Amino acid sequence: MPDHPRRILVTSALPYANGQIHLGHLVEYIQTDIFVRFQKLRGHQAVYLCADDTHGTAIMIRARAEGRSERDLIAAMRADHLADFAGFQVEFDHYGSTDSEANRQRCGEIWGSLRQKGLVVSRDVKQLFDPKAGVFLADRFVRGTCPRCKVADQYGDACEKCGATYSPADLIDPVSTLSGATPEVRSAEHLFVQLEPMQEFLREWTRNSGALDPRIANYLTGHFLGEPLRDWDVSRPAPYFGFEIPDAPGHYWYVWFDAPVGYIAATDEWSAARGGSWKDWWHRGGGNATAAEIHHFIGKDITYFHTLFWPAMLEAAGLVLPTKVRIHGFLTVNGEKMSKSRGTFVLARTYLDHLDPAALRYYYASKLAGDIDDIDLNLDDFAAKVNSDVVGKVVNLASRTARWLEATGLAEAYPEDGGLFAQAASDGAEIAAAYDDCDFARAMRIVMAAADRANAYVDAEQPWKLAKGGPEAAIKLRDVATVALNLYRQIVVYLAPVLPVLAAETGALVGGPIRSWDESGRPVVGMPVAPFKPLAKRVESAHIEAVVAASQPTNSALPTTSTPPTGANTVSTDSAEPLAAEPLAPQCTIDDFTKVDLRVARILAAEEVPEAKKLLKLTVSLGGDQQRTVFAGIKGFHDPAALVGRLVVVVANLAPRQMKFGLSEGMVVAASGAGATGVYLLSPDSGALPGMRLR
Ligand SMILES: [Zn+2]
Repeated sequence: MPDHPRRILVTSALPYANGQIHLGHLVEYIQTDIFVRFQKLRGHQAVYLCADDTHGTAIMIRARAEGRSERDLIAAMRADHLADFAGFQVEFDHYGSTDSEANRQRCGEIWGSLRQKGLVVSRDVKQLFDPKAGVFLADRFVRGTCPRCKVADQYGDACEKCGATYSPADLIDPVSTLSGATPEVRSAEHLFVQLEPMQEFLREWTRNSGALDPRIANYLTGHFLGEPLRDWDVSRPAPYFGFEIPDAPGHYWYVWFDAPVGYIAATDEWSAARGGSWKDWWHRGGGNATAAEIHHFIGKDITYFHTLFWPAMLEAAGLVLPTKVRIHGFLTVNGEKMSKSRGTFVLARTYLDHLDPAALRYYYASKLAGDIDDIDLNLDDFAAKVNSDVVGKVVNLASRTARWLEATGLAEAYPEDGGLFAQAASDGAEIAAAYDDCDFARAMRIVMAAADRANAYVDAEQPWKLAKGGPEAAIKLRDVATVALNLYRQIVVYLAPVLPVLAAETGALVGGPIRSWDESGRPVVGMPVAPFKPLAKRVESAHIEAVVAASQPTNSALPTTSTPPTGANTVSTDSAEPLAAEPLAPQCTIDDFTKVDLRVARILAAEEVPEAKKLLKLTVSLGGDQQRTVFAGIKGFHDPAALVGRLVVVVANLAPRQMKFGLSEGMVVAASGAGATGVYLLSPDSGALPGMRLR
């Protein structure tokens, strides 16, 4: 046990009960699971809570379309979700539902606090109503002709052709995609939570609580805080699948109001089952000597809800604020958005039918650096990396040496190993710090370096030759195998949060169950070694091909929900806005293009330019001794420390430019949009090398 055990409550975003879990979702659940397993291994009290997010129009509409009740639908989806999570070894301490009595209670209490503080106001909202289906229509359930460019069959909120955004009431000839009826504009009362009175608190929390990555804090400060915060529409008129608001009959809490409260409700259910109270975690002071930490893991698409609405609700209710909101990026597959037509929109179940979940857990861990950058699942790289690291470096250590000890067991005293075990033991603090920061990529790099050293030891000692020698060689063989198997077990202790099954199998092979991080610091001696069984399978390309084939639309039984008809999978769901906001430049020739020499470069150093609001000073390498200093206008969007080591694209033949702060010898290219937020650096697929030309 550590001297000061922490109390850590950890959540993942609640998966919506309208869809199956896919590999994109799993980035978050695997990441959170690794974090929680790590904290438990360290001896802290960590609790992993989650729940299905069950309310809202989409569930109501789908249940109707399928001719069953909402509760029947969400029960079926819950069973699917739980099976998928279990398949990927994601181990919740409790998995609840937002459609629970505990959640209704907690929502009511928070609502009472908001009312009491005078933060709830009501006003009429004009919305399209489907008279045939008898429901108010969310924007995506309406289609019609764009009021600006007059192109037919556009969504209710934006035109895919010209990029115009508008209110669904402005559409020409609108049609409800639910019933085909012509919607009517109806006015209905909605309840709003005023956020502007919380502005001061939110600014302070955003900047000074330490809960947010500085990039996120800068983004919120620059884009929302500072101007008056708009009221948040938190109710929907009947009919709606959700909780009726106790003091406003006929009105229901909007799904985004009751979803985060589900974190507290899950705490309530988990605590109650153990004779405790959710208040031990969420009440300030809590009656506990050690204050609870609350860590929310979320995707960047729901940042706004978790960094503005949620802390405002908690503050108004006098509850504990998040210690950390840990925000990750999206998953791309082979460098592109997951796509059904390419077979890269892979459901959890499809993957599990063909491949080992441990392989994906390791690959994600090797990619996750604890920041908001997207991660790419390159399927070739996935196979190569798992085969090289998990099979080739780690498991190979045991498979090459365990059998020599089946008869004799481990040596009675730990043999001389040239300091290898001690060296890897001293790496433990750094590996732990990386796990604690969710920089799993860094943790994996340090562990694999230890595995490289261990393999070099085995290669040098050549136990297979000792096995052919006399009695003296037999003693040496036992020592060499004892060292190798100890180095192996030590590495597996470090990998246990990522590869729990490998850890369990390793414990059965030698040394007993791995229960504590501290076991990485003590060699095991004088113990039996069980007969060796294969511990990991190679990722075969045939299995990956099978997953891709099973994910193609023709072969899969993807549940088609009440998604409005979009024609085919080739229709882009991306907004047309960025292109419309900045139309294409005049046509150019290939000669014009080749004048610009774009190269892959690696960032060697990145530092802030204190005098410049937007600039970072970057030192980039084009390979060999070719280095450039470049000033890039990306400050505030990228943490300099996190940039070091990554590949970018530079304009390598741009004339040097003397700036106030120094000479800029090129330009780093980044994507940005007129009026849009953010500056996004480009990265090549893995395998690209500094100096390669873009053409
Ligand atoms: Zn248009």
